[in-house]
Amino acid sequence: MTETTTPPTGFAVPGRIAVDAQTAAAWQTATLTEIRRETPRAATFRLAVPRWAGHLPGQHLMLRLTAPDGYVAQRHYSIASAPDDSGHIELTLDRVPDGEVSGWFHAVARPGDTIEVRGPLSGFFAWPGDRPALLLGAGSGVVPLMSMIRHHRARGLTVPLRMLVSARSPEELIYAAELGAETTPVFTRSAPLGVPVGRMTAAHVAPLLAEQPAHGWEAYVCGTNAFAEHASRLLVAAGQPPERIRIERFG
Ligand SMILES: Cc1cc2nc3c(=O)[nH]c(=O)nc-3n(C[C@H](O)[C@H](O)[C@H](O)COP(=O)(O)OP(=O)(O)OC[C@H]3O[C@@H](n4cnc5c(N)ncnc54)[C@H](O)[C@@H]3O)c2cc1C
Repeated sequence: MTETTTPPTGFAVPGRIAVDAQTAAAWQTATLTEIRRETPRAATFRLAVPRWAGHLPGQHLMLRLTAPDGYVAQRHYSIASAPDDSGHIELTLDRVPDGEVSGWFHAVARPGDTIEVRGPLSGFFAWPGDRPALLLGAGSGVVPLMSMIRHHRARGLTVPLRMLVSARSPEELIYAAELGAETTPVFTRSAPLGVPVGRMTAAHVAPLLAEQPAHGWEAYVCGTNAFAEHASRLLVAAGQPPERIRIERFG
């Protein structure tokens, strides 16, 4: 997929949101204030970041852990919370087996601990809330998409927003209690009685594309490389212009 998106004629939305380079480069201290379990494998970590410059839904940050012996680990994490002026942001981390950083957060981190962050980063995957958005996520790929949904609700936006989210089972669906009529979950391993089990297919995507809001959809796809490939193929096959598919890969 292309890295830039040209807005449709007559629709004044920039394709790429400018990210202030100085803000993006400056490390700042964040204090962990709360840990909330989301699923058996995922938890949300609320951080107080007093000098946070603000973000747009969809953006991520760089996080740095430094061990007492000076060893440093850095990873990217999407911002789960909607932009607000609380001086806090939230991240949701999947626990990766033997994962250095996610393992520390899940097994060691406690409220009061400090870490470092810099950001927000990436103007490309940002959604300012001004264009119809079709969101496709899998696993923790739902995290930046949830920031978009929370923003849509918090601001009372009326621009169309739909989400297809894939999870292994209802127990592993992150933010399950918060998802509403905008979301269709797809379960790949086990599902409630009467709900089919399987991958996301054309049958999930086609009805959403058929809705075609004015100016069409901007699609945001987030998940593993394999999911990103699969979901973007489904979108293109259903008629979504490739240049209007934005992809964030978690690797
Ligand atoms: C832009 C961006 C945003 C991201 N946002 C999020 C987010 O919101 N939430 C989130 O949980 N993660 C997110 N990630 C992934 C995150 O950056 C880390 O890669 C992840 O937390 C693993 O780091 P770790 O230090 O725990 O594991 P590592 O110590 O780096 O890896 C340990 C082992 O696990 C394997 N591994 C690494 N990552 C994964 C994975 N995702 N699934 C399965 N195996 C893996 C490695 O190959 C290695 O064998 C994001 C990545 C990017 C690039």
